[in-house]
Amino acid sequence: MTSIKNKKPKDSKVYLIGSGIAALASAIYLEKDAGVLGSNIYILEKAKILGGALDGSGNAENGFVTRGGRMHELHYTCYWDLLSHIPSLEDHNVSVRDESFDFSNRFVSNAQARLLKDGKKLDVSSFGLNLKQQTELLKLIFSSEKSLGNKSIEVWFDQAFFKTNFWFIWTTMFAFQKWSSLAEMRRYMMRFIHLVDVLPKLGGILRTKYDQYHSVVIPITKYLEAKGVQFQMETEVVDIDFDLSADKKTATVIHLKDKNEIVLGESDYVFITNGSLTEGTDNGTWDRPAKLKGFTETGSWQLWKNVAAKNTAFGNPKPFCDNIDLQKWYSFTATLKDNTFHDYMENFSGNVDGTGGLVTLTDSNWLLSFVIARQPHFPNQPDDVKIFWGYGLYPDRKGNYVNKPMAECTGKEMLEELWHHLKIQDLMKPLMEAGKINCIPVAMPFVDSLFMPREIGDRPDVLPKGATNFAFLGQFAEAPTDCVFTVEYSVRTAQMAVYGLFETGKEVMPVYDSIHKPKFLIKAAQAINS
Ligand SMILES: Cc1cc2nc3c(=O)[nH]c(=O)nc-3n(C[C@H](O)[C@H](O)[C@H](O)COP(=O)(O)OP(=O)(O)OC[C@H]3O[C@@H](n4cnc5c(N)ncnc54)[C@H](O)[C@@H]3O)c2cc1C
Repeated sequence: MTSIKNKKPKDSKVYLIGSGIAALASAIYLEKDAGVLGSNIYILEKAKILGGALDGSGNAENGFVTRGGRMHELHYTCYWDLLSHIPSLEDHNVSVRDESFDFSNRFVSNAQARLLKDGKKLDVSSFGLNLKQQTELLKLIFSSEKSLGNKSIEVWFDQAFFKTNFWFIWTTMFAFQKWSSLAEMRRYMMRFIHLVDVLPKLGGILRTKYDQYHSVVIPITKYLEAKGVQFQMETEVVDIDFDLSADKKTATVIHLKDKNEIVLGESDYVFITNGSLTEGTDNGTWDRPAKLKGFTETGSWQLWKNVAAKNTAFGNPKPFCDNIDLQKWYSFTATLKDNTFHDYMENFSGNVDGTGGLVTLTDSNWLLSFVIARQPHFPNQPDDVKIFWGYGLYPDRKGNYVNKPMAECTGKEMLEELWHHLKIQDLMKPLMEAGKINCIPVAMPFVDSLFMPREIGDRPDVLPKGATNFAFLGQFAEAPTDCVFTVEYSVRTAQMAVYGLFETGKEVMPVYDSIHKPKFLIKAAQAINS
């Protein structure tokens, strides 16, 4: 952490690279807590739309789409703190946090059909771990992160572990793969140990009222616009110059694609979102598969590679972005001008919409899961239109029914595979033929990049040693003990950056320390042992 903090914030301009929740949170804290003028905060975003991973768009005619939906929990301390300051989309007297808490209290997450096999519900009252597997899990928690190095999960457990209820629940809830980082799995076990006993029912999960673009990004954008924050869209940062000496590191110039460079003044700052899990995503259609884009079509990874080449303290992006085949998976959003599927699932699962969460088809080659959110999930979704979202963790495998890898499937083919697994193809066929259903597939080449095995130091510190005027933000900057693939992690890095560089009198909020609370340990141990 730098020793000299800014005491004259009104003289500073701050450039934020990216407009994901990490950068948006930074803008809020800079204006609110550090005293930087809103009009001196610049968000440089290469996309046409704000929010990064927090997306949600479309309409009843062309189909709705989200790349994913967010599960949250009570101890997303930084995230909920942030959203407690933001008026909600529909009621300016209620914060986004309070709206989300009220919504989650009304539609309590309590999955009744978490795992299916052969179209029938599986009993998930036991995790199905044998004594050896239970011991391995506990041994993992008590190992140091350093000792795990860049090991993958599959070297720690026996092959039978990957057939247990525990693994099916774990892999599909968090999107861990067998080849993902063992150290990240350990962090998740420790960070969310208070939820382990309720994992099979997705207990303790909180949600926003609508998709996160509408429930979170639009309210934040309105808040920041009112403060005068400047949004520069379609502005891609390609490189940053630094003045590097033995004890000080100072960013000097921001280079933009096809635009004039920005020369940083003495009291100016740049916060860099290095890497992005939704970089290079592509939408297909009902009759066209999504296209898998490659590294050369992405900006954020190239920027981090350019910057990382200048100093070892700027991290090592390679483990996170050089192996798309191990990082990618595909999702889809279905839009139905009909209630049949939602009525069928309510009856089958016993969950009304918004209370069931993930349903996983354990015998699906693609390892398909889907979620029926509370309807409407989009503010512009008509009452007679229903949506659901799904994803597959193994897009290169041929389907059990559709004789193609998921990656090559159209939206229509993805649904046909799902209907067959649920044994409702006859029920759904007339609707498919009548054009009442649409489905948009999405390819995400880097979505699991943050779980790739990595060494300590591959993620740069938020404030590298000696950094005078810059910070790294988001999923690929290091926030010790917190868990990537969460919005909480990104907001935490924003607090670390702002409170570390500016005199605010504020401390970064601590990560919820459930691993040291005996009552949670006992409950988790009982669940693992069940
Ligand atoms: C399918 C899916 C499901 C998820 N589920 C959950 C969940 O259940 N719970 C949860 O807590 N989290 C979940 N997440 C994770 C969470 O949404 C992300 O971790 C978080 O939103 C990342 O925010 P960020 O600001 O760090 O980065 P991003 O959202 O990746 O934003 C980075 C932004 O920077 C821009 N950018 C990058 N490089 C440049 C450049 N060189 N110049 C200009 N702009 C640039 C990008 O275009 C992008 O807009 C999920 C994510 C996905 C994709």
